[in-house]
Amino acid sequence: MTIPLSDSHLIVCFVKEGRTMEYIQDYFCCDNCSNRDFKLIYNFSIRFYGVNFSDDLIYDRLTDEIFQCTKCLKTFTKSAIDENLTELKKTRISRS
Ligand SMILES: [Zn+2]
Repeated sequence: MTIPLSDSHLIVCFVKEGRTMEYIQDYFCCDNCSNRDFKLIYNFSIRFYGVNFSDDLIYDRLTDEIFQCTKCLKTFTKSAIDENLTELKKTRISRS
């Protein structure tokens, strides 16, 4: 099996119980600059909701995690990264 290599793919070999195992590691890459290093940024907020037939507001405290490319500073949400990794998985599994 020939595996195409690019910056976003890494093949690592290790020995397990005397057998050489090989695995492929696919990385989420920034779609703007192909960098694969990100740092974590937190947003803290309070979201208010009106309640029907009442002047009261109810609220939720929210902590959002945003991932920022260390090179071009583009930001990604966790769900955007998860979706991309799911796509990588589909591509990898259908290719082999
Ligand atoms: Zn980037």
